[in-house]
Parts: sequence; C-alpha cells; structure tokens
Amino acid sequence: MTSEEKVPDFEAGVSYWANTPATVNGVLGGYGPATSVPRLDAAMTRMLLLSILPKLSTITPSHRANRPQEPSKIEQRRSFRALDCGAGIGRVTSTVLLPLFDRVDLVEPVPKFVEAAKEAAEKGIKEGWKLVKPPFSTEETKNRGKGVRMWQAGLQHFDPLHPAEALAGGASKHIGTFGDVNLTWPDPSQTFSEDDGYDLVMIQWCIGHLSNQQLVDFLKRAQKSLRRSEFGLEGYICLKENVCRDETAEGTGMLFDEDDSSFTRSDKVFRQVFADAGLTLIRREVQQGFPKELFPVIAYVLR
Ligand code: SAH
Repeated sequence: MTSEEKVPDFEAGVSYWANTPATVNGVLGGYGPATSVPRLDAAMTRMLLLSILPKLSTITPSHRANRPQEPSKIEQRRSFRALDCGAGIGRVTSTVLLPLFDRVDLVEPVPKFVEAAKEAAEKGIKEGWKLVKPPFSTEETKNRGKGVRMWQAGLQHFDPLHPAEALAGGASKHIGTFGDVNLTWPDPSQTFSEDDGYDLVMIQWCIGHLSNQQLVDFLKRAQKSLRRSEFGLEGYICLKENVCRDETAEGTGMLFDEDDSSFTRSDKVFRQVFADAGLTLIRREVQQGFPKELFPVIAYVLR
C-alpha cells in the first residue's frame, strides 16, 4: 500500500496518545520544557496572533502608562473567543490563548489529557491557568475574569457550532466549564449567533490524525463558526503543523506514521486542502529557532 491509500485510524491514534505521559514533554514527543521548543513555539504564536488581531493587546503604551485616563476615553475591550483543537493537556490554551482571549473552548479526544487540563484549570497555579482562578479584577482597565470550557471529542466528530452534538460515529462530552461564573457562554445545544463566533480557531500538532477529506470537512465547519460582522468574516483559523517536503512518499507529500496512525503533509498538500475547503490563505509563517532535526513547522492563517 502507498501512503496515499492509508487513512489515519481514530482509535489507533487515541490509543497511541493514551499511552503517552500527560505532560508537556509527552505531548511534544520529548521536546518539553528542558528544550527551547515550548517557549519559542508559544512566543511565535502569540506574536502572530497579536499581529492579525491587534485588538487583543491590552498593553498601555509607555507614554500613557502614568497618566490617568479620562473615563470616557477608556475603550471597553470586547470579549474575545478562541477554540483550541486537539488540545492535549491544554499547553496552547495555557501559554498562548488564555493570556490573550477571554473565553476559550478546548477539544481533545484522550480522556487522561482532558483530565490533566481540567486539573490545571481547577488548581489555577501556573501560566494562563491562573487567569481562570478567582479573585478576578473588576477595574475597567484591567483584565476581566476569563473562562475555559472543555470537550472530549475527536475533530472528525466535532462541530464547533454545536459542540455538544457529536457527528455520526463519534461522541462529544462536556467535561466542565471553569473560570469567572459571570461569563456567558453560547448555549451548546443551539447554533450561536454570528457575532458570538470564534475570533480564532487554533489547530496545532494534531491534524495529521484526520484524512484529507475529514480535514476539509472540519475546516468548513470551523469556518462557519468564525465571528462575523456586517463587514464579513472577522475571525481566523490558525493551523500550525509539521510540514514535510513535497517530494516525500513518492511525490504524494503525505508521509504516514504507523506508530500514531497520522500523516505529515507537505506545504503543497496543505494548500490544496485549504483550497478544497474554500479558505483563503492570509498569512504563512515559518517557525524559527527549532532544533534542526525536527520537521519545519509552518503556521497558516486562514479564513
Ligand atoms: N495541540 C497540543 C497537543 C499536541 S499532541 C499541543 O500542541 O500541545 C497531539 C494531540 O492530538 C494529542 O493530544 C492527541 O490526543 C490529539 N489527537 C489524536 N487524535 C485526534 C483526533 N482525531 N482529533 C483531535 N485530536 C486528536
């Protein structure tokens, strides 16, 4: 069989990860906090997100920092929402999304990983998890309380518009909602209104577990869940993944890994998938600074 004919198996992928430690080192295949990978990865993604969604910035320019603001000039920051796909133990939620967004949904199929994320949110003692733990500041200019909701599901079965309703052949389980109880969440059984859509659907290091067709279908559902305004689509999808060479696997650009039953795709394959999903590529950024032995990692911003 050539790699082209292979299809990732959902159960095989889940059981591979269920046998991996629920730690950053585990979800990053040995490139944990002892290496520069998690830090460089999170820093690049945060910078990329701030450049496409500058309103996420809560930093007061230094020339204004000591001057009291006229109350009428204080801009009320609206509530920003993000979805972390194939989230593992919530590494991206904690180090990238919670520091920037107000309400984060996290979806991950492996029970022990979701459990680790839940524990981290309940304890609230490190990184972005601190932001979902009371007390919350009420001062207008400071961050409000934030929140995170967790779902146990594979992406091929998950519809961001209807998180509680799994698609055929799968299951989606609400694991819990954490953080400021004053936050309002869209009713999971209803399609949420357009202005309550996601500002960002983040997909990182998990999408090889979907076939090309499953990926196209998921991206279409993700696009429907993005925030819209009277001017059109406002939210973005950011997909950050390992990328192999176009010539790989007899020129298919689809490298199958039997161990975890997943594909590594080439840039050309990703671009075709995005086109098939009807998405426009807005930015493409190559991660810098990673160890040379790793696949290149590319972040694609789409809508
Ligand atoms: N995105 C996280 C986790 C990366 S590890 C991070 O960057 O830290 C890869 C993750 O993909 C694991 O948590 C694994 O359970 C998840 N995964 C496996 N099959 C999946 C599927 N069908 N849908 C979504 N995620 C899946």
